Amino acid sequence: MPNSPLSSFDDAGMHDALQRVFGFRSFRPNQQEAVTALLDGRDLLAVMPTGGGKSLCYQLPAVMLPGTALVVSPLISLMKDQVDGARANGIRAACLNSALLPDERSSVMRDLLDGALDLLYVAPERFALDHFQELLGRLQISMAVIDEAHCISEWGHDFRPDYLALSAIRDVRPDIPVAAFTATATGNVRQDIAQRLGLRDPVLVRASFDRPNLWYEVRGKESGDSQLVSILKEFPGQAGIVYRTSRKSVNDTAAMLVKRGFRALPYHAGLPDGERQRNQDAFIRDEADIVVATVAFGMGIDKSNVRFVIHADLPRSIESYYQETGRAGRDGGDARCIMLFSTGDIPRVRFFIDAMLDEEERARALSGLSKVVAFGSAAVCRRRMLLEHFGEAYPKENCATCDVCLGTKEVTECTTEAKMLLSAIIRTDSRFGAGHIVDILVGADTQKVRELGHDRLKLYGAGKGHGRIFWRRLLDELLARKVLAKSEGLYPVVYPLEGAVGILKEGEKVEMVRVVEKRQGKTDAKRLSPDGLPADRELFERLRALRKQLADEQGVPPYVVFSDRTLHEMASRKPLTPGEMLEIPGVGQTKLARYAEAFLALIAGAGLP
Ligand code: ADP
Ligand code: MG
Ligand code: ZN
Repeated sequence: MPNSPLSSFDDAGMHDALQRVFGFRSFRPNQQEAVTALLDGRDLLAVMPTGGGKSLCYQLPAVMLPGTALVVSPLISLMKDQVDGARANGIRAACLNSALLPDERSSVMRDLLDGALDLLYVAPERFALDHFQELLGRLQISMAVIDEAHCISEWGHDFRPDYLALSAIRDVRPDIPVAAFTATATGNVRQDIAQRLGLRDPVLVRASFDRPNLWYEVRGKESGDSQLVSILKEFPGQAGIVYRTSRKSVNDTAAMLVKRGFRALPYHAGLPDGERQRNQDAFIRDEADIVVATVAFGMGIDKSNVRFVIHADLPRSIESYYQETGRAGRDGGDARCIMLFSTGDIPRVRFFIDAMLDEEERARALSGLSKVVAFGSAAVCRRRMLLEHFGEAYPKENCATCDVCLGTKEVTECTTEAKMLLSAIIRTDSRFGAGHIVDILVGADTQKVRELGHDRLKLYGAGKGHGRIFWRRLLDELLARKVLAKSEGLYPVVYPLEGAVGILKEGEKVEMVRVVEKRQGKTDAKRLSPDGLPADRELFERLRALRKQLADEQGVPPYVVFSDRTLHEMASRKPLTPGEMLEIPGVGQTKLARYAEAFLALIAGAGLP
C-alpha cells in the first residue's frame, strides 16, 4: 500500500533537502510531522494556519519521492503563483488548467508523460473528466494533495461544488496517498474532508492557530480620514490591506488615499473583472502598496510580504477577522493588525443582520457580532481572546504583542455613576432603550423626554458631568457584567438583573478598565513594530529594487524571488561570498545559482565608501 518503505528517508535527508531546496534551517511547527507522514506513504489531514507553511509540507516530499505529486488548488491565480514559487526553488512544477494555450498544454503533457515533473497543479473539475482519469491511470504518481481542502465541505465558508469531483481520486488510484491541507476546519468540516476524500486512517496534524509574528491592536475609531492616513504613514512603502464593509466606502477610501499620494487601489466584487484582476496583480507585484477592499479580497493572495491589515470598519465575526488578519506576515516577519473600533458601527451591521430571512442564520450573525464587539471593547489580551474563540488555551499571561498586553490599564472607579444609571432605568420602569436612558442622564432636550415628562425626574441632567460616550461605555460594561440585560427585538430595552442589587444596596464597587494607548513616544511606537524597520533601511530598499527588477524580467511576483524576511537578513548580515549567502534563510541552491551574483554585487558595492 504505502509507496515508500519507512526507513528510506531519515531525518538528515529531510533536513538536507530543506536546506538545499528551500534554504531553510529548520521546520516551522508541525511541518516535519506532515512531511514524515507523506514520505511514509500515509494519508494526511493537516490543519495549519495561514502562513503556517503548508506548501512546503508537500513540496518537500514531492521532490524527494519518485513520480509526480498532483496538487489540487481552487484558483488559477493561486496555482500560477505556487508554480512560480516552486520553480524559483528549482522544483519541477507545472499546472494544467483551462487558462493554458495549446502549445503550453502540450509541453506540460510531454513533461508529465516523461516523468519530468515533481509537482502538477490541477483544477478540481478535471478529476470528473474521463480522459483525465484515464491519464491518471498511466502515470507514476507520488501522492494527491488537496490544498484549501475545506472547499469540499458545505459546512465551510468557501464551498466549491467542483471539489466534489475529487472523490474520484480514490477510485482511480487507490494506491496513492491522499493529503488534505486547510487553514480552516471546524469539527464537521474536518469530518467532511476525511469522508469525501475517503482518507484511510490519516495522520492528523493540528497546528496551533497562534500567529506569533502578528501584532494585534484595537484603536478607537475616529470620524474623518485623518486617523487612517496617519496610521498608513507608519508604513511607508510597505504592503498592506485596508478592509472596509461596503463597495462605496472602498471606492471612496481608495480615491482619498490616492489623492493624498498613497499607491492605493480598490478591490471589490462590483468592479469589472479586468480591473479587479489588474488591481490584484499590481498589489502582488509590489506596484501598489495598499489595497482597499471588501471581504471579497483574500483567497488567492499568497503574497508573503503583507505587513499590515487594517480593519477600518467592524468585522462581521471573529472568524472573518482572524482570516483577514491572517493574510499578513506569511513570511514569518512581523506584521500589524489594527482594528478601528467604534460601537457606532454596530447599527449598520445590525441593519444587515435584521434583514436576514433565515432565523438560524440571523441568530448566528448576531452572536458573531456580539463577540466581535466584546473583542474590541474588553481589556483582555487580544491573542488570548482569538485563540479561545477557536477552543485553544493561550498559555502565557502576557503575549507582549498586543495593545492590551503592552498598554497600561487605566482603572476608574465609577460606582456612583453606575448607581445613577441603574436608578434611571428603574425609575422609568425598565421600559426604555440605552439611548433614552443616556438622554435622561445627560439632560438632553428631546421630544421624547418632554412628552414623557422625564425632564421632571430628579436624575434628569444629573450625569451632565460626563459625555454620552462615557455613559454608553458604562452601560456596555454593566451589560457585559450581566448587571443589566437587553431585551430582544427591534427596540430593545435595558433592564436590571440580580447583580444590580449588589451595587445599589450592598456597597459593591464598579470599576471600568480601559487600555490606555501608549503611542506618543517614539520608543512606544517601535515596541509595536519591532522589525518594521530593518537595520540598514537604505540597503534594504536597494535590495528590494533589485528584487523587483529581477522579478519583472522573469515575470514573477517579487516575493517569489526572495521574501521580505530574506532581504532583511541580507541587509543586516551583509553576506559577501556565496557561502555566506547560503547561510541566509530562504536562499537554497537554485536561488543561489540564479540570484546570488546580482545581490552579492549590490551588497559589496554598498559597503564601499
Ligand atoms: P500557507 O499555505 O500555510 O498559508 P505558505 O506555504 O504559503 O503558507 O508559506 C508561507 C511562507 O512561509 C512562505 O513565504 C514560505 O516560504 C515560508 N516558510 C515555509 N516554511 C518555512 C520554514 N520552515 N522556515 C522559514 N520560512 C518558511
Ligand atoms: Mg497555502
Ligand atoms: Zn496580548
